[in-house]
Formats: sequence, C-alpha cells, structure tokens
Amino acid sequence: LRWIRPNGIVLNGELQMGMEVLVSPSYKKGRIQYFEILELRPHTGIPEPHLLSVPFVNAHSHLEYFGIDLHLSGLDYFEWILRLTELKSLQNAEDVRANCHKAAELNFKSGVGWIGEHSDRFGSAVALSEMGIGGWLYQEVLDFYAPEYSRFDEVHSRLQTNSKHFQRASLSPHAPHTVHESTLRKFGREFAPISIHTNESKLENEFFINDEGLIATTRKERGFPSRRNGLGVIEYLDQLGILNRRTQLVHVCDVNIDDIGRIAKSGATVAHCPRSNQTLRCPAAPIRELLDAGVKVGIGLDSPASSGEIDFFEEMRAVELTANARGKPLKAEEILRMSTTMGFHTVGSFYGEYAKERTPIVWDVTPGTTIPLIEIHLPHVRTTEQLIQEGSPDSIQWMT
Ligand SMILES: [Zn+2]
Repeated sequence: LRWIRPNGIVLNGELQMGMEVLVSPSYKKGRIQYFEILELRPHTGIPEPHLLSVPFVNAHSHLEYFGIDLHLSGLDYFEWILRLTELKSLQNAEDVRANCHKAAELNFKSGVGWIGEHSDRFGSAVALSEMGIGGWLYQEVLDFYAPEYSRFDEVHSRLQTNSKHFQRASLSPHAPHTVHESTLRKFGREFAPISIHTNESKLENEFFINDEGLIATTRKERGFPSRRNGLGVIEYLDQLGILNRRTQLVHVCDVNIDDIGRIAKSGATVAHCPRSNQTLRCPAAPIRELLDAGVKVGIGLDSPASSGEIDFFEEMRAVELTANARGKPLKAEEILRMSTTMGFHTVGSFYGEYAKERTPIVWDVTPGTTIPLIEIHLPHVRTTEQLIQEGSPDSIQWMT
C-alpha cells in the first residue's frame, strides 16, 4: 500500500488541489503498471511537485499510418484518402510493424494509456500489447464498391490473428461510403463494438442525398452504381441499425441539429479529431452542441498522416481553439473530461460488458477501480486551463 501525495489530482476532468490517494500496485502490462485505488482524502503531508491523473484516452488512432507523412500535403479529405490508399500499397509488412511500434511509443510518451485503434494491416495489435496500452482494436472492413469484392473472410482471419495479441477487438466498418450497404446492414444486425468514420466532410451527405460531388464522380468513373438514397448519412446509419450505444462515430463534422438529436437518442458516442479535420479542410465538428445534447465525446489523435505530431496536449489545445473559433467555447474541464473519464466511455465502458469482464474499469482516480496513473510534472500549474496550455509529452512520467 502506498499513499501518493501529489500537488493536485485530476478528478473527473477537473484539477483538485489538496488531496492524496492510497493505492495498491496491481498487475503490470507491458510497460504500464496498474494500481487499485483504495482511498482519497485531504492532504496530510508535504505535496510532491507534480500532478496525478489517469492516462489520456486517445479515442481514435491509426498507428499504422505513422510513416505516411501527408499532413502538410495540402490535400483535401477525399484526395487525401486516395493518396493514402496509394502510399499504403507501397509499404511492406516490416515498415508497417516498425511504424506501429514508433507510434505506440509516442502515444505512451504523450501519456496515452487507452486507445480506440483502427487497424487495417498487421502491427498495431502487437505494438499496443508490448507497450501495455489498453483499449479496443477495430479491424477495418473496406469493401468499397460491391460485396462480391468483399474481403470479409480475409479481414476476419486478420482479426483472429490480431486478437491473439490484443483481445479487445472486433470487425468494424471503415465509413458509410467505403463499405457496401449489405455489409453495413450486417454490422447493424450484430451487437459488437464498432467505430465508423462518418460525416467527416460534406461530400458524404452530397453523395448519399443527391449522388453529387467527388465521391459520386469517382465512383461513376470506375463504373460503380449510385448509392443515392435521399437520406443524410446519420439517418441512413440509423435505418441500417448502426446507431446505438456500442457504436463510436469518428469525426461527425458535417451534421445538423436533427443529426445531433438522433445521435444523442441512440446512445452512440463520438471521437473528435480537430487537428485532422483542420488539415483535411473538413467543417469544424459541433462539439458544444453534441455535449449539450448529452453525447459522450472523446478526443482522437488520428494519425500523423493528417494530425501532425503525436502529442495529446497539442490535440487538447486544438479542441479548445476549434471550439473558440466556432464561437461555441468549451470549458477546460470539459476538454480534460473528454481526454479521460468521458473519452473512456467512447472506447471502453460498454466494452467491459461486451467482453464479460467482472469488474468494469472506471477511468478516473476513483476508489474501487484498477487503472494506470501518470504524473504530470508542471510544478506551478494550479488550474485545469493552465494544465492544458502548458502540458507536453516532456511533462509526463508513468507511475511505476
Ligand atoms: Zn481515422
């Protein structure tokens, strides 16, 4: 048993001064030590010059894109996807594995202990498991144009291989327009956790509602049929049975107030990746409105291919700047909650139930839960806002 007496503790997204915590070291996973939280009480000794927090939750990530540097390419969303697909095909398996390891290492250094990881090829499952980072692995299904081209069996065998290294894993559709309708329908009937990129740009609504725009013309050039259905993407996903509480929606930039209501009612969660959205010139996601509607939102670093450096504090600052630029600001405490307790709900709380774990984890310094802990070395910081402004991977140290 050990009393930790930090300067301040991040509790449910808020920096609280004058508290200390009793922990008992539990199990170790890779480089990460888990602690059982036993008791919290007012400070009784001299505080250590650092802050204590649960690690950050990276709600949306692609470790395998680490070596694909496109974030300064100036490409818009759809051109970027096409270029990314091209560059992916030039990489060999060894490159992919090495990139996943580097990206997992940088996530760790940035204080990330839990990830919603989209995986297409091999590498991220092993990298996460060796580092000890937890989370969920979404094995991406992309069968673009018709189910006869479906790689479902192939993807399923990838999932089986990856699950040997990382048990919290399931098949997941990449995006509404990159996955055939019959495959999406299949996902709607099952009840495993999924994460789907959606409403990232205006192109997707244009494509499904009017069969117009770059997605539509690219498909026509390749001889594929229209998928016009007159429905906005969120309504379409709802009809397919995909909107519910086991679903994480990634990006959610181009949505209207009806879409937000529909998401809130369904219990689906959202991963917000502001740096990636900005790079690809996507609309700014309406996070204020989503939170006000009761939607749980997490923050995703996505990948260096669209977000730049792996630095969780940089992403938190981007969340703040993006919300301010929309004239719909977020409180520092909301951003820190999205980074920790609430973010975990978008990649975690439901999954404990799905994975039939006996004791669900609460991603907070709460008595009764077993979690990893990080020290944030910013001795003069006293407020949540300062913590977000001044933090960097250099201030992070993992508790051992
Ligand atoms: Zn993504």
